[in-house]
Amino acid sequence: MNSSMVMRGVSAAGAAVSDVAGVGIGAPGTIDTAAGTVSSSPNLPGFQGAEDVPLGAMVAAGLDGAEVKLDNDVRVAILGEWKRGAGRGFRNLLGVWVGTGVGGGLIIDGKLFQGQGAAGEIGHTIVEPGGRVCSDGRKGHLEAYAGRGQMEAEARRRVKKGKKTDLFDIMERKGKTRLASGVWATALEKKDEMARELVDDAVWALATGLASVQNLLSLEAIIVGGGLVGGSLALAGCGTSLTNEPPAVSASGDTHSTTSMQFPIAKTDAEWQKQLTPEQYRVLREKGTEQAFTGEFWNTKAAGTYRCAACGEVLFVSDTKFDSGCGWPSFYQPAGTNVITEASDHSLGMVRTEVMCSKCGGHLGHVFEDGPQPTGLRYCINSLSLKFEQKKEEKK
Ligand SMILES: [Zn+2]
Ligand SMILES: [Zn+2]
Repeated sequence: MNSSMVMRGVSAAGAAVSDVAGVGIGAPGTIDTAAGTVSSSPNLPGFQGAEDVPLGAMVAAGLDGAEVKLDNDVRVAILGEWKRGAGRGFRNLLGVWVGTGVGGGLIIDGKLFQGQGAAGEIGHTIVEPGGRVCSDGRKGHLEAYAGRGQMEAEARRRVKKGKKTDLFDIMERKGKTRLASGVWATALEKKDEMARELVDDAVWALATGLASVQNLLSLEAIIVGGGLVGGSLALAGCGTSLTNEPPAVSASGDTHSTTSMQFPIAKTDAEWQKQLTPEQYRVLREKGTEQAFTGEFWNTKAAGTYRCAACGEVLFVSDTKFDSGCGWPSFYQPAGTNVITEASDHSLGMVRTEVMCSKCGGHLGHVFEDGPQPTGLRYCINSLSLKFEQKKEEKK
């Protein structure tokens, strides 16, 4: 990238170098806007090192000293969207670019907000502590799930472990050496399981990151752009709904949909409505979630048995209940091997494992893989789905 590129652009526009009032350059990497230098650029040959390359001066030299301004490519993109594109008219705005990595830029109070220089780097916010490794070697960052580079790295890791996917065959057929966005699109069309899982994870991570930003900053708009963004990213409403339950990645291979599942106790909606309170019905039959720290049993420590509030089946015993701090009754193990049925839940832009009563199909909550030993599982259950039966005092 040098002045000859700018010259070509100028002549293509039928102008002369003397007509150029100034040049703006957006480049990936670490940018010193005042000095006009670039370093540590991940995908620009010649700019990958830690030493500063004076790109601004190099370009200006061939342009009779026309003014050259340099900034991070994503910040430049958000400036463009704000001034001329989808972000026009907003005073508080986040732009997120999902590509090889995940970058972002913030407009706060009608100004590009730089912080100490790196503000807006939403790609390196943590969505899953201790989770997947990011391009910077740290763990659980949004980019580790939603950046194309790390999605490819994860796909390669899974293939090494023996998992099947057509992603790399599609890549070769398309004559690519990387999993470009077109490769992902084709794999999704062909219902490739691994591609779907990884894209689901990307959507979940993005929704989680954006929900946190929205809760913190209460923005007027969030613009999501970049190579891997299609119409399938359903992010609407994530600003509030995601906070109701702690998000987590679950690795469930179970993909059947719950609507087609059969349970021993089958009642009509009207029958359930008659039997359950409106709150119970919303959770058990409509898969709702009670607010954290509001349920009847989140803090219950008494000894006894937890039954399904719909059918009375024994689901959990107090010995396996633990204080997870999440605001819902949490157990590390069900009362029996077959009392709980699991299903993959893709709602709210997350991938979670739903748990249901095996007898009546009533929705109970979700199971996460961050529980205590001996199982390492956390069954996060709505109080509204449970009926507690306290153990009677032993009689002499
Ligand atoms: Zn990172
Ligand atoms: Zn039940």
